[in-house]
Amino acid sequence: MKKITILGSTGSIGVTALNVIQANPEKYQVVALGAGKNIELLSKQIEKFRPKAVAVLKENLVSNLIDRLSKDARPEVFFDAEGFKHLVTLDEVDTVISAVTGAAGLLPTYDAIRAGKNIALANKETMVMAGGLVMAEAKRQGISILPIDSEHGAILQSLRGHEKEDLRRVILTASGGPFRNSTIEEMGKITRAQALDHPNWKMGPKISVDSATMMNKGLEAIEAKWLFDLEMDQIDILIHPQSIVHSMVEYKDGAIIAQLGIPDMMIPISYALSYPRHVKNRLPRLELEDMSQLSFERPDIEKFRCLDLALKAAKTGDSMPAVLNAANEIAVEGFLKGKIGFLKIPDLIENVMGMHQPHPIDSIETVSGVDRWARDAAREFLSG
Ligand code: NDP
Repeated sequence: MKKITILGSTGSIGVTALNVIQANPEKYQVVALGAGKNIELLSKQIEKFRPKAVAVLKENLVSNLIDRLSKDARPEVFFDAEGFKHLVTLDEVDTVISAVTGAAGLLPTYDAIRAGKNIALANKETMVMAGGLVMAEAKRQGISILPIDSEHGAILQSLRGHEKEDLRRVILTASGGPFRNSTIEEMGKITRAQALDHPNWKMGPKISVDSATMMNKGLEAIEAKWLFDLEMDQIDILIHPQSIVHSMVEYKDGAIIAQLGIPDMMIPISYALSYPRHVKNRLPRLELEDMSQLSFERPDIEKFRCLDLALKAAKTGDSMPAVLNAANEIAVEGFLKGKIGFLKIPDLIENVMGMHQPHPIDSIETVSGVDRWARDAAREFLSG
């Protein structure tokens, strides 16, 4: 029986992870749930899964949450960073699902690793900001970090049973998002609703915009570098609009191993929890005979400048990916609030990256400092 804390239980990944747990009560038990502000959904999750402890973003949400709970469902309720730390360090917890969105996921994920907990990782920003530190600490603690991202789950499966030294390259697939066929001119007029309407996946707002700009694929390339100990020039990206081939690995003899499946996050979340086993589910199966086409093409990095910027930040290394990440979060927030247009997102990130002198990331405090600096710089651009 795996005993689990979910960080970000009220989000898209958190809710799907709870569905996986509910479908396998003999395998998984929820010990603690962490959420941001969605008290209404969190209270329903508490009634259903009866966690021992929960945490919310701010103290002022605590009494509101408690008021909504029935008398026999009263977990210990914590708040803010200390509260999340408490959830991930509970003795009985062995696995933490890291599914908060954005840089806010870094500290609790790092705390969980330091406490010796295995990680099922959705929060790719943790790897982008501090992949080197995080992987070194995971090694020291002897814990596993298994990806929830479908692409990385596919790579994990395609690497199993093969020798690392035989690897030629990893091929990350990307749907291309809703604007794959749009012209730059059309992209200048994109609305919030259009950017949030992903053709193949239902996701939270931040990652939906990242998919539309293709920043998401750049963040995933950096995540893959750290998770699988790759050089950036071993990672290729191909647009695959059908989202059926979730990613591939090519070996020296030209053999390409791929993992295919319907685009449903239940599958990679389930695999991250059951690795190396595959667990039955009730999802429809992939009917290959119904697929008329599986196509692949190179991404247009002049059109999707965020992808280009992410790959440049990865190449520069040191603190630059953390700057890219912070500037992107502020730019996406600005776009979602209607403060800037879609094409201004890469402009803003490029400006902030241009102001930064990269330096080594030697501690979590250094990353937090870089993150703060880049957010302030990005906000200044945002306010004109
Ligand atoms: P959502 O926006 O749907 O959910 C985010 C979750 O994080 C919510 O529970 C939210 O709480 C919580 N949260 C947000 N800010 C904070 C904070 N400052 N402190 C504590 N909790 C916070 O995001 P997704 O589920 O889509 O994505 C989560 C992560 O998973 C991201 O890193 C994303 O890149 C990654 N991912 C997502 C995929 C997907 O299909 N959605 C696929 C692969 C990776 P509340 O809502 O209560 O405020």
